[in-house]
Amino acid sequence: IAVTSFAGRRVALFGLGGSGLATAQALKAGGAEVVAWDDNAASVEKAAAVGIFVQDLKTADWTHFTALILAPGVPLTHPKPHWTVDAAEAAGIEVIGDVELFARERRALCPEASLIAITGTNGKSTTTALIAHILTASGRDAQMGGNIGRAVLTLDPLTPERIYVVECSSYQIDLAPSLDPDVGILLNLTPDHLDRHGAMENYAAIKERLVAQSRTAVIGVDDAWCEAIADRVALWGRSVMRIARHRPIGDGFFVDGSHILRAEAGQAELFADLSGIATLRGTHNGQNACAAIAACLSVGVSPEEIRAGLASFPGLKHRMQPVGRLGPVVFVNDSKATNADAAAPALASFERIYWIAGGVPKEGGVESLRDFFPRIAKAYLIGQAADAFAETIGAALPVEKSGTLEAAIAHAAADAGAAGLDAAVLLSPACASFDQYKNFEMRGEAFVTHVAALPGVTMLI
Ligand code: ADP
Repeated sequence: IAVTSFAGRRVALFGLGGSGLATAQALKAGGAEVVAWDDNAASVEKAAAVGIFVQDLKTADWTHFTALILAPGVPLTHPKPHWTVDAAEAAGIEVIGDVELFARERRALCPEASLIAITGTNGKSTTTALIAHILTASGRDAQMGGNIGRAVLTLDPLTPERIYVVECSSYQIDLAPSLDPDVGILLNLTPDHLDRHGAMENYAAIKERLVAQSRTAVIGVDDAWCEAIADRVALWGRSVMRIARHRPIGDGFFVDGSHILRAEAGQAELFADLSGIATLRGTHNGQNACAAIAACLSVGVSPEEIRAGLASFPGLKHRMQPVGRLGPVVFVNDSKATNADAAAPALASFERIYWIAGGVPKEGGVESLRDFFPRIAKAYLIGQAADAFAETIGAALPVEKSGTLEAAIAHAAADAGAAGLDAAVLLSPACASFDQYKNFEMRGEAFVTHVAALPGVTMLI
């Protein structure tokens, strides 16, 4: 997608990772003069090699720039602004990201192209992938990207019939002041990423903007933050579709066990049954399904097409992904659960769990998961968090400090096999991965490799 809104003007671009490079190229294709930089010399070299003009922005004359385009990983406000942000502020120019550029392009050149934007603390990727899948399965031309998969400006060019399904992190929304989706989804809000945004109020306000500027807002009302946001957005006269995971509501979609109900003026009826869909197990996935249903209906997909799409959803890697089976024991890769909140859904979805957890812990550790301890047969702790986690759970259930993932899998498989009961060996680490793995994907791939090496295992992927 060429970005034409800066044609003939000079912009500074900072951050030359994958999406930064794509943004630089999109701006150039649209006629902007791009001056790019990164704190990482290798990234600068790589950009120069593909023809992007690079110059140390520390010594640049900022009065020549009309905007600073920032990659989403660069701090805008917290803990302190990146030095380029200070420079842009001093020069009085705007600071925006690739999602903003996409939104402007759509408004100016192709407002008929539909845009569905998804945010929330947990469930963004699953919901985004589910929506894109339902659309594609029903014959629509869905383009999925943003915080998942392809950077937004590398998606196929804007055409009226295309539907863009864009996952937005709070960082991306922060850098997209005029983002105006046809459907904006806010799934849930729990404290996360506060290292960057400071107070919860700030984090919530950023997410609120996405739905406040949507034609139709789809909002999960299970937490108090989102409930207040839904009320406010409705007051401003926007169309609001409420979704709920933990309780019935009078208007909107809600989860009841494995059923999704649609309520109108207090009358609820069954909309979809998820019970046979392994990739949508758990009430958290019920919430994701509610959001996807509301979004797809609002862009004109029929209920029958939606049900068919839900039933054929292949699921996402590393999110409660069943990867192998050994007799009655299933091996589940939930490596994406990098904090305790994200691990809760998997712990709630299985009955007898051999739990592999650990890595680099987040604040609060696994204290908030105490309610799930009765479902856990034994815990196998890895990485830096092992001692602290053992302290929290050791009094409640059997624990071993396994050290490595490989040892944890071998021991958990042996223990679960010896018990001979239906059980899950679950990697849902409640921790970041970077003490032992580059990222959660590598950790998940390692889990799959080690499971595949177990004698007698049947792989499910
Ligand atoms: P995100 O893209 O927001 O990080 P994902 O869809 O990748 O979310 O899921 C991340 C983790 O959060 C998974 O481990 C999953 O078990 C859990 N999760 C998924 N959907 C939800 C939800 N709606 N509410 C709470 N947790 C969820």
